[in-house]
Amino acid sequence: MRDQTLCVRRPLVSHEGFASLAVPTYRASTIVFSDAKSYTERKNRGPDGYSYGLHGTPTSRTLEAALSALEGGARTVLMPSGQAAIALVMTTVLMPGDSVLIPDTVYPPAKGFCENFLKPRGIGYRIYDPMIGSGIAELIDFTVKLVWTESPGSTTMEVQDIPAIVAAAHDKNALVGCDNTWATPLFFKPLAHSVDFAVEALTKYAGGHSDLLMGSVSVRDIALHRRLKDTMRMTGIGVSPDDCSLVLRGLETMGVRLAHVSAVASNFALRIAEQVPAELVLHPALPNTPGHDVWKRDFAGSSGVFSLVVPPHAADAIPALLSSAKVFSIGASWGGTHSLIAPMSIVKDRALGGLLHQGTILRISIGLEDPRDLWADLEPIVAAIANEEKTLRKAAASS
Ligand SMILES: *Cc1c(COP(=O)(O)O)cnc(C)c1O
Repeated sequence: MRDQTLCVRRPLVSHEGFASLAVPTYRASTIVFSDAKSYTERKNRGPDGYSYGLHGTPTSRTLEAALSALEGGARTVLMPSGQAAIALVMTTVLMPGDSVLIPDTVYPPAKGFCENFLKPRGIGYRIYDPMIGSGIAELIDFTVKLVWTESPGSTTMEVQDIPAIVAAAHDKNALVGCDNTWATPLFFKPLAHSVDFAVEALTKYAGGHSDLLMGSVSVRDIALHRRLKDTMRMTGIGVSPDDCSLVLRGLETMGVRLAHVSAVASNFALRIAEQVPAELVLHPALPNTPGHDVWKRDFAGSSGVFSLVVPPHAADAIPALLSSAKVFSIGASWGGTHSLIAPMSIVKDRALGGLLHQGTILRISIGLEDPRDLWADLEPIVAAIANEEKTLRKAAASS
């Protein structure tokens, strides 16, 4: 062969004796076939075969298999973000005339997807109280094909009674999806509670380093896997093997990272609850958080995200205290090694009345820094809230 050809055609080298602990990053658009017949018949390889890089390489398949094992599922598909994974389930299951039930505490962009994408296409949605439990049966009419759950709820941390919701939904032939991003499969396994679609934003704890976006959907039922893969093929969606290799690396340390942030976050939540009225601290391991008993019953632990409600009269002091934090960064998309605080306003995101928390809520994500440095940042915030509460109570007592 001539030089130009040798530039393109690499010689094969031996893999004999090469046993690495790392998963190789297999990049591909083209998959080549040994003969014309197998190329013509490539469709027969099915969703588990290799036919085109978009549909998977050994790197993405390794990540899918690792997640299926953790979730206790038959198959997993990978999407370019957590939001895309949510959208994939909804667009696969729902047809015009159908509808989906979503909890009021759902990840807000999921509600936006229902309102601004599904609704104009003739797919309805209704919002339910996350604490509804088996009462959801009353909302499931013949149009409802999917009940969406997210436990605990975004920012306000309500823990849902997933087994009760699944029983009611399956009784009426509706499928159930669960956004399990907060717990990860290490602390809650939706498929073990008969949920049909376990969704994770791998962007958070699995990736674990704030440098990638990915989502996953795991299923027990091979037929549902085929339907998800069909939607992905029709819409041309796949993930990069380089990102998969980063998630595979993140997954190896997820257990020790979670054990650490879990211990620090629950310790901080308890310490804060000793200094401010306990109902201001929203953490599933605290008894006053809605669904705490369900959390104790169903979950194997709590991760590193919890919330602190800022009462309206303490709100003025918070922006300056956040800006002067030395270790916490201000930002969303939690689950990495860096601790984050995000001042959230949930009022515009919630449709149902009876909102307990009208003001700012600080969503705190614990990372891997020394807890003493983190506490030094939190202490003045907690003290500001505690002082305002004391002043209020004194004023109330003397009037
Ligand atoms: C972050 C998040 C998502 C979306 O994940 P992206 O990868 O950022 O799209 C979905 N659900 C929950 C609960 C999340 O926290």
